[in-house]
Amino acid sequence: DKYCYYFGEGNPSGPGAKLVLGGKGISLGVMTNMGLPVPPGFTISCPTCQAYILSGNKWPKGLEEELDTYIARLEKDLGKSFGSTEDPLLLSVRSGAAVSMPGMMDTVLNLGLNDAAVAGLAKKTGNERFAFDAYRRFIQMYGDVVLGCEHHDFEKILNALKAKYSIKGDTDMTVEHLKELIISYKEYVAKKTGAPFPQDPKTQLATGISAVFDSWNNPRAISYRRINKISAEVIGTGVTVMAMCFGNMGETSGTGVAFTRNASTGIKEIYGEFLTNAQGEDVVAGIRTPLQFSQMTTMGPMWAGISAQLVKIMETLEGYYKDMVDLEFTIEEGKLWMLQARAGKRTGAAMIQIALDLIKEGLITKEEALLRMDPAKLSEVLFPMFDKKAAKTVIGKGLNASPGAAVGQIVFHSDACCEWAAAGKKVILVREETTPEDIEGMVTAAGVLTVRGGLSSHAAVVARGMGRTAVVGAGCCHINMDNKTLTIGDRVYQEGDYLSIDGGNGEIYDGQVPTVDVEFGEGFNQIMAWADEYRTMKIRTNADNPADCAAARRFGCEGVGLCRTEHMFFEKERIGVVREMILAESFEVRSEALSRLLPFQQSDFEGIFRAMDGLPVNIRLLDPPLHEFLPHLEEVDYIKTHAKQIGITYEKYVSTIRSLHESNPMLGFRGVRLGVLYPEISEMQVRAIMQAAVVVQTEGVVCLPEIMIPVLFSDKEMARLKELVTRIAKEVMDAEGVVVKFKCGTMIELPRACLVADQIAEHAEYFSFGTNDLTQTTFGISRDDGSKFIPAYQENGILPTDPFATIDQDGVGQLMKLAVEKGRSVRPGMSVGICGEQGGDPDSAVFLCKLGLSYVSCSPFRVPGARLATAQAAI
Ligand code: ADP
Ligand code: MG
Ligand code: MG
Repeated sequence: DKYCYYFGEGNPSGPGAKLVLGGKGISLGVMTNMGLPVPPGFTISCPTCQAYILSGNKWPKGLEEELDTYIARLEKDLGKSFGSTEDPLLLSVRSGAAVSMPGMMDTVLNLGLNDAAVAGLAKKTGNERFAFDAYRRFIQMYGDVVLGCEHHDFEKILNALKAKYSIKGDTDMTVEHLKELIISYKEYVAKKTGAPFPQDPKTQLATGISAVFDSWNNPRAISYRRINKISAEVIGTGVTVMAMCFGNMGETSGTGVAFTRNASTGIKEIYGEFLTNAQGEDVVAGIRTPLQFSQMTTMGPMWAGISAQLVKIMETLEGYYKDMVDLEFTIEEGKLWMLQARAGKRTGAAMIQIALDLIKEGLITKEEALLRMDPAKLSEVLFPMFDKKAAKTVIGKGLNASPGAAVGQIVFHSDACCEWAAAGKKVILVREETTPEDIEGMVTAAGVLTVRGGLSSHAAVVARGMGRTAVVGAGCCHINMDNKTLTIGDRVYQEGDYLSIDGGNGEIYDGQVPTVDVEFGEGFNQIMAWADEYRTMKIRTNADNPADCAAARRFGCEGVGLCRTEHMFFEKERIGVVREMILAESFEVRSEALSRLLPFQQSDFEGIFRAMDGLPVNIRLLDPPLHEFLPHLEEVDYIKTHAKQIGITYEKYVSTIRSLHESNPMLGFRGVRLGVLYPEISEMQVRAIMQAAVVVQTEGVVCLPEIMIPVLFSDKEMARLKELVTRIAKEVMDAEGVVVKFKCGTMIELPRACLVADQIAEHAEYFSFGTNDLTQTTFGISRDDGSKFIPAYQENGILPTDPFATIDQDGVGQLMKLAVEKGRSVRPGMSVGICGEQGGDPDSAVFLCKLGLSYVSCSPFRVPGARLATAQAAI
């Protein structure tokens, strides 16, 4: 086995190279081969780390010997020896994985120093202060990363010393101070670990490498991978061992970072920061205020020269990466060294700007630009966002359910939410989890925060649909409804206190973080127009009111893929009638209540049809169990009043609520089952749809209704409802003397429906996959409870991703494939779409495209991302 790769020599290349060497290792090899100044070194491959982890933290056979050979090679190239006490070779041991995880794993600098070597280094360089500064840094970093000491404790010791001698900055410490600091550090390490600070460089190196291997699995890295959906199948970090260069040798030395373009706006301007007489993370750690890259030219000829050299290197690197580059550099006594380069992270706005500029500059083609853009990032361009420059305190984190930046006063009840919002306040609705009854609160809230629920929970789905910012499943939050408090960690918030939530990353911040509006510009439209040239699938939206429809149209949707009719039932004036209908003791009473609901539904549909003029609108008949519409038993006063109003007894009201209660409502009396037992409900809905169509058609609107039957598992159910739909439609059309072009199809959301899709297609004119329920029923995992264990399943590599967010290709996907094939075998070319959450998921797009789906449907704000993702899938 080959474990180590010397920079640039025989390094793997091509797309798989990163999997071997990691991004950092690759970049150092590439820069070495370009002739850029890189300190020599080598990288231990990522698979080596994988072998180490899989064998229970043992070095693979032969690694030790190979390491010796590579260290010997390094010593020869530099004319210094590792472990020497006269002129020691000092090493940097760095982490770097295939996927960039900035700052998540560990790095040790100045390795190889000990009590004797530090004296040798001082003598050799004639710079005693530098040598002891390097040693104290080493003890601190090695102590933190390898020995399990606390970074915080070292800081305390350092601050105590500074206080003792009234020292302001780190650079003001003299040799004597540093020597005293080193003694205190070593005492602390000895006390903390029960052993003196390790003096043997070979031991330091071996334990340093193991510690960097281990950092792959530190909690930070694990959650970073989960949150960024980095597959658990690629295991391990590369470990780069390289010669140190020293930015801490005085005023002609320094260290810094730079971006070749502005990562926030994308504008072509170098953005960089640096510090003189500094090392490593000093710049980013905010120990001193860094200087701006542009200042370099004003600091005398030496620094001006470095600046010019860096500008040239940046051009070279952009030419190679064909992208905006983020780089790290160090200057040692006037000589520049390059330490890292990578394609830089950027905002959605910068992503668009940079892609367009790179095309103009001839560095990339249109296709390349489209392929490398992140669809999920497009939504950033549509929502206001938190001011990146603003100070903020992260107090907790949940799932990033619906993007955007929300700031508001917290309330714990939907009604309170409405009241406060009506009074002109900005409110964040904080709930254990939301139910359809919270809908009005959610509409009026600036954002929604829930303790439980996953990405396809009610709160998440509804929030995305409304473009409402939402963080869900934030298990760190504890609600006490009695005294109306929210506890996160050791902070307690009362009703009315301010919080800020970022639906883009799931973070929760203390207080009010300022937001900024984002432009919806030319660049965005250009990218979208190009995406539309390539994609093969259509994009529809999940929307159930005219405003959402209009928003989605602005974002480029080509129809409504899912219009949920039950949301319309929850509005204040209607819910009472809905309850009356459910509580009706006879067919006559129910029909009478239904006839009062009809005009409401009809006017809703008219609004939606007008908004979607010329585009198909797929309307799903009533889906949830009736129980969801009834009040809670505790609402005694309400029930008494309402019972009196509708002329039934309190006892009867309560017993109906009890009798409709189900122990597993998701698998209960819902969907088509309602239509089979109470056909009059479906008849009212179909009538409302058809009458609305007639009305808008006579206004000149092109109306293309599609009527969809939910949760069915049998062709018999389909046949029955198809007959009902056709009959009512004909009645309406005959009565009005108008022909409406409508279709009747079904949602495919149960495994059995997939298995008998050919039978169902005899009657259904189209399919739409309801992958939320299909995933729930295929896995046997409730979509509202899965968030309790799905993250752990991902961390343990049992599930590669959350199946409610990204289609499970092996299971659910195979059922879908079968359903498409069976359906189209009976009805060639039939329209098959997807309206589950996964429809808007960029990572599912390639698979959905391969399935041959006709369209994907997603919430309005995900439409642009879906346009891009489906284009990428087709390129
Ligand atoms: P991260 O992946 O967290 O950025 P790095 O491995 O890049 O960690 O190391 C952090 C910092 O340590 C670098 O930004 C650089 O300033 C410093 N550093 C790393 N290697 C060397 C080296 N060979 N010589 C001098 N400084 C180094
Ligand atoms: Mg780095
Ligand atoms: Mg469903």
